[in-house]
Amino acid sequence: MTKKLTVPPLSFTHVGLPSRVVFGAGSLSTLNAEIDRLGARRALVLATPFQKAEGERIAAILGDRYAGLFDRAEMHVPIETAREAREVAKRLGADCAVTVGGGSTTGLGKAIALESSLPILAIPTTYAGSEVTTIYGITEAGQKKTGRDPRVLPKTVIYDPELTLGLPVGMSVTSGMNAIAHAVEGLYAQDASPITDMISEDGIRALAAGLPRVVASPRDRAARSDCLYGAWLCGTALGSVGMALHHKLCHVLGGTWNLPHAETHTIVLPQAISYNAQAAARQLERAGRALGNPNVAQALFDLAAGLGAPMALRDIGMKESELDRAAELAVQSPYYNPRPIERGAIRALLDDAFFGRRPK
Ligand code: NAD
Repeated sequence: MTKKLTVPPLSFTHVGLPSRVVFGAGSLSTLNAEIDRLGARRALVLATPFQKAEGERIAAILGDRYAGLFDRAEMHVPIETAREAREVAKRLGADCAVTVGGGSTTGLGKAIALESSLPILAIPTTYAGSEVTTIYGITEAGQKKTGRDPRVLPKTVIYDPELTLGLPVGMSVTSGMNAIAHAVEGLYAQDASPITDMISEDGIRALAAGLPRVVASPRDRAARSDCLYGAWLCGTALGSVGMALHHKLCHVLGGTWNLPHAETHTIVLPQAISYNAQAAARQLERAGRALGNPNVAQALFDLAAGLGAPMALRDIGMKESELDRAAELAVQSPYYNPRPIERGAIRALLDDAFFGRRPK
């Protein structure tokens, strides 16, 4: 028989972030009206080199609202790229930035806004969720600095699932697991509220239902819509509350060994949740409900493995000889986590993640 966990009396502070969200297939057609609504006239479009064609497509839609295209967004926002993009924005007299792409492109827009308060209109094409958070990251001399600042929050987000139809299946899965990670950790955040709890639970549910359908049929429009909807909810959870052990570990692994972002999240998540499972048993009940299995760590592992995701750090470039240092770095500075951070247990967690063991 499962034990009924006691629910403490309600007590919370909730802060909602002011962003305007336009969601739906074909919603890209609202772009010019949304630019006008921002009171902007000259939009600088941002994209990665890989998504240059998407950038050009946005440029064509913008017509005389188009100021220029900067198509060199890259992972982790190097300060040099951010400076260059800021210069280009100034030189072109841009009065807003339109980002089309994943977290790296949104991140570049945020780096510009951090200095200039340039309004951003974000058009996400992955499930990373950065477009609805005040979190920014900039990498200088090999060190990624992150922070929260309301100036970087995109003013408008256009979520058009049509733009995600071509997101490769492997990336869809790991990006979706990255999104789920925001919501699962959001459930046991110190500053969680009944609103963020609902958002997190439904975000997990939408992605857990949508991802298998995307894997089965990548151009299934309804499945893509469910996943992007889930990504919005999970990103909103990330933007509303603080994260804990899982995000800390991924930050350490990604920042120090340059491991790929979404894959690292996918691999670490079941292990981090296993670590916190008892300490946060009541909060994780919602995740168990959304995943259809009360053992959340196992459910997450099975979901990702069933979708063909990489499940072991050793398969994405981590060396076993570095695990001690990773454990050291993860326990160095104090941060909130429902279960105390113990070096030995963290080292064991990393070992499980390294070999991709199913949580017990
Ligand atoms: P990404 O933005 O780095 O994209 C990876 C590659 O996929 C890029 O070349 C991109 O152009 C391409 N791509 C994106 N969408 C595509 C599509 N629909 N079809 C084909 N290719 C596509 O990957 P990501 O996982 O979205 O973002 C990761 C970065 O975002 C990390 O640096 C992470 O730290 C950051 N992030 C920040 C926040 C935040 O709140 N600040 C939240 C989540 C992630």
